Amino acid sequence: MTATGSMFGLAFGDCMGKPTEFQRFEEIVRLYGPQGPSDLPAGGLVTDDTQMALAVADALLEQPGGADLAVEPFTASLIEHFLAWAKSPDNNRAPGMTCLRAIGNLGNGLPWPQATQRGSKGCGANMRVTPIGLLPDVPETTIAGAAQLQAALTHGHATGLAASDLTACATRWLAQGMAPSDLVPALRERCQEQRRIYHGDWLGDELWRVPMRNSPEDFIEAGWVECGMILGVLAKAAQNPDPALDPCDYTGEGWIAEEALATALLCFLMYSDEPVRALGRAAATGGDSDSIAALAGAFLGARHGIEAFPAAWPERIEYRERLARSGAAWDVGRA
Ligand SMILES: [Mg+2]
Repeated sequence: MTATGSMFGLAFGDCMGKPTEFQRFEEIVRLYGPQGPSDLPAGGLVTDDTQMALAVADALLEQPGGADLAVEPFTASLIEHFLAWAKSPDNNRAPGMTCLRAIGNLGNGLPWPQATQRGSKGCGANMRVTPIGLLPDVPETTIAGAAQLQAALTHGHATGLAASDLTACATRWLAQGMAPSDLVPALRERCQEQRRIYHGDWLGDELWRVPMRNSPEDFIEAGWVECGMILGVLAKAAQNPDPALDPCDYTGEGWIAEEALATALLCFLMYSDEPVRALGRAAATGGDSDSIAALAGAFLGARHGIEAFPAAWPERIEYRERLARSGAAWDVGRA
């Protein structure tokens, strides 16, 4: 039940981080104590993070399984679901400006390489990518291409692409049973391996053409290097983090893609076998708490399955039917 666990875990984290997203760390500690919140807020409301992850999940559910996931139909389906989200009356959860601008451009009929925000590496693309890591029986190159493409539609920055790829891989590897202690070394190795690989079959020949980059390889390399640097910081921080400190003090506030990944991983690694505590830690952060906790929740659920969370939470969380639908489809595929 790892796919179900990861989909619900993302929503649980998002819900726990929603009230704390715009609060300072000291304020959160004063309200909830040093460990942060320990229960899902009543009402179970989530933010744009879960809404957009569900848009990606619903687009995936329309695609053929396994290696047949193909660029054009997936792109069209993603755009359709992003537009539907942008127009929905539920889109009132402090959505990110990059997403709104890029999706506005898509709605005006611009092709995505022109609609995307090339200068933005906000975390809006990797907070929604984890469903791609849950697809069963899909080759890792397809996961990489799909993860980077879904980022590229709104966040055209190379670091946003690399961070989305890493976030999908982390989710996938945890769902496959990788030990938490192996995760950061594996992600750092991926930064090295992928350093000069541009997925032109998924990303096309236009995205990489930005000032100061002479080739697709030069373009993507900058993103992998930036992600590799923050993972190096994380590797040190994760050795002995002080639980009384704001995790953002170590790996950044998470408003940008690579920091959201690193700080979410730090919270996950601090309490990788105590999901509620890890989510409380992730929600008690001075930065982008809902996105940090959403990603931490996706990792926790991928590792432990839905059973590791309090039994009352799935019934309380917003969008539970949609979360359950994709989770069930991919858990069956995996079994
Ligand atoms: Mg949010």
